[in-house]
Amino acid sequence: MSRFVIVAVPVPTRRTFTYRLPETLDAGDPVGRRVLVPFGPRRMTGLVVALADGPPPVEAKDVLDVLDEGPILEGPLFELTRWIADYYLAPWGETLRAALPVGRMRRSRRVATATGGGEDPAGEPFLRELEDAIRGKGGAPVEALVKRFGSRGKVEGGLARLESLGRAEVRAVLEPGPAADRTESWVEILPEGAAEGAEEKLRKNAIRQIECLLHLRAKRRARRAEMRARFGGAADALVGKGFARIVEEEMVRIAEGGALPSRYDPDRPLTPEQEAALAPLLPAIRERRFEAHLLHGITGSGKTEVYLRAASETRAAGRTVLALVPEIALTPQTVGRFRARFGDEVVVLHSALSPGERHDTWREIRRGHFPVVVGVRSALFAPLRNLGLIVVDEEHDTSYKQGESPRYHGRDMAVVRAKLEGVPILLGSATPSVESIWNVRDGKYRLAVLPKRIHDRPLPRIEVVDLARVPYKERIGALSPRLVERIGETLGRGEQAMLFLNRRGYAPFLHCPDCGHVPRCAHCEVAFTFHRVESVLRCHYCGVEKEPPTVCPECGGARIGYRGMGTQRVEEDLRGAFPSARIGRMDLDTTRKRDSARRILSDFAGGGIDLLLGTQMIAKGHHFPGVSLVGVILADTALHLPDFRAGERTFQLLLQVAGRAGRGDREGEVVIQTFHPRHYCIRAAIHHDFDAFVERELADRRELRYPPFSRIVALTFRGKREGSVRGAAARFRGALSSDGRITPMIHEILGPTPAPITKIRDRFRWRLMIKAKTERWRAFREVLAAHLDAFHGRRGGGRAEVVVDVDAQDLL
Ligand code: ADP
Ligand code: ZN
Repeated sequence: MSRFVIVAVPVPTRRTFTYRLPETLDAGDPVGRRVLVPFGPRRMTGLVVALADGPPPVEAKDVLDVLDEGPILEGPLFELTRWIADYYLAPWGETLRAALPVGRMRRSRRVATATGGGEDPAGEPFLRELEDAIRGKGGAPVEALVKRFGSRGKVEGGLARLESLGRAEVRAVLEPGPAADRTESWVEILPEGAAEGAEEKLRKNAIRQIECLLHLRAKRRARRAEMRARFGGAADALVGKGFARIVEEEMVRIAEGGALPSRYDPDRPLTPEQEAALAPLLPAIRERRFEAHLLHGITGSGKTEVYLRAASETRAAGRTVLALVPEIALTPQTVGRFRARFGDEVVVLHSALSPGERHDTWREIRRGHFPVVVGVRSALFAPLRNLGLIVVDEEHDTSYKQGESPRYHGRDMAVVRAKLEGVPILLGSATPSVESIWNVRDGKYRLAVLPKRIHDRPLPRIEVVDLARVPYKERIGALSPRLVERIGETLGRGEQAMLFLNRRGYAPFLHCPDCGHVPRCAHCEVAFTFHRVESVLRCHYCGVEKEPPTVCPECGGARIGYRGMGTQRVEEDLRGAFPSARIGRMDLDTTRKRDSARRILSDFAGGGIDLLLGTQMIAKGHHFPGVSLVGVILADTALHLPDFRAGERTFQLLLQVAGRAGRGDREGEVVIQTFHPRHYCIRAAIHHDFDAFVERELADRRELRYPPFSRIVALTFRGKREGSVRGAAARFRGALSSDGRITPMIHEILGPTPAPITKIRDRFRWRLMIKAKTERWRAFREVLAAHLDAFHGRRGGGRAEVVVDVDAQDLL
């Protein structure tokens, strides 16, 4: 009798599907293996998530193929994907797609090709046009045709006509395949070739072959491609003579780089504070049990050292370690220190890996060849076996939240994985998130504190410049006289300075003083940023570029000009003020190329740059002992964003930035320029007063029912027609409000309102924000899921879609 299996496929639906597993394919336990299944008119890779019990549905289709010999996902990792799908109301199939290396979960596309024969569609110009579009090699994906001709109905109808005339064919084709295992050829010396005097057996004038033999004898084996490049056909000739042989071997494509070279002294004693922070974690490591620890250590207090010791303990117990960091390119020193400590045991998973590298790295981790994995958010899914510890560095960092489905939070899911695996987790930060601090108070996390810098280095002195009191004519662009003076002194002493401004480009907007007009991107409803280097206006949301106007396009006024400041402009000011200084700039525009971020940072670390200017990219955990001055050009850039975390972000960023100063032998100094010196976030940052900030923030959030006192679900409705988008949001709100079950589960629903950025890439955005009661979350999630499923079922013609973001971090 045939068995039936439940399969998750990578499509945006939360449903799973039942298929019949034909007896011919049935071998062993299919759960956790991939299968190829028909899906509507398409084919798809899915993952078997369970065996179906109960009466099989009559209409169940057959599995076409079983793609794996054994499970590729199992145990806690398998559970984790289910957990994420449930918690974030995300499709399980998409979650699996995120958890496996690129190409493992493939979707298929419908592709139309011209047959080259059939009847002539005389007198139908659209069919001719359509036929031209699919004539090329490999045809054209149907979706691309719909995009191009602007109407699904017209394209589908046209293709059907062409098919019936025998002029076209529409087939389901799997999207480009996974980066597969690859092999490469090696040349290996044989005993005959290694034997004393073997070269005498070669002809005297076969110089190349003799050289090649000597080379092989020294190296024993070498890649065939390299040998060819170096010795031409000589290696193959040696093979022909029985001196060497060719072996095919599995290729291991593992990326180098991502680390700054670093030394590590394993015998360096911990400070008493570090000992005290580590000690409570050790029993959980040794006994392998779940416990969550939060390490709150001010910048420069030696947190990384604690991570490394905890990791060493775990390795000593024979288990593996997963360490998450926000962004590899921005934290090359942390990676460098893991490398220095664990050498070849470490592999790095970052976002710039090629599909081949990702594939091989994943495979090698699974085989146990890399017991220490350091990686970004998605490394959460690293298939480490025998896991013993998870570390999350800079746990407060917003880049842990994934911006697309499944919208999971890497830190929170790391805690879930630790729980599922039954291992301890260590979260660390100089500025823990308000949520994590609350988890400590709630008894969920255990707190350890490193209150002092290593060697009792003092915290930097922070000086505030109230920009409202600095007359325009005294400033050099964005720089107050005080900051200029400080920079001059620092450079004069041969020390380095870092300057921070969280806005790239030259000027964040253009403004006409006569009519107040601000040029905005027509697709996104955000002000254009002026980039002087290329002399363009650029939209930071969709990348569209425009030539800057010389007169106001609204009123024709000639006084339209740049307002505000971005990094390009400050760089110009700095070059004017310090012509002999070596100035570096690090922002999204200067770090687009792979490895450029690491290069700028290592240049700065090596003293090749005196003055490093940058956006939040330079705020993260770097350790530059030569830096004695940190300047914040404008502390207020994020302060007034319409987001309840704006204050927290500002506070964290200021403390992190300030933490870059004075990590060497000289005392550090920080100059903060602001228009709001009395704002509580800025005041708390100036006084390094974490507790004052947290108390105020918690009080505000408790009153307004923001997390951690609620769970936020942001529902963003989006689509091309504003009326439909608004209507869909309003109807959804109406459905929630009239559902009697919901009222006791939530604090309130806000909206529908236009999202703060009302349009991105031509799609209007309307928002509902739900504040759910934390203690009723599980029940509420189920009810909300039912409403969402009903919405998806109802949605006709794709006029508005809804994006669900649980524990939303980005509210713009
Ligand atoms: P954090 O990660 O908290 O910002 P780091 O781990 O970068 O701090 O430590 C700051 C500096 O102190 C580094 O140069 C590190 O090598 C050094 N350090 C850390 N622990 C010790 C220790 N126990 N003894 C001496 N130096 C230490
Ligand atoms: Zn745009």
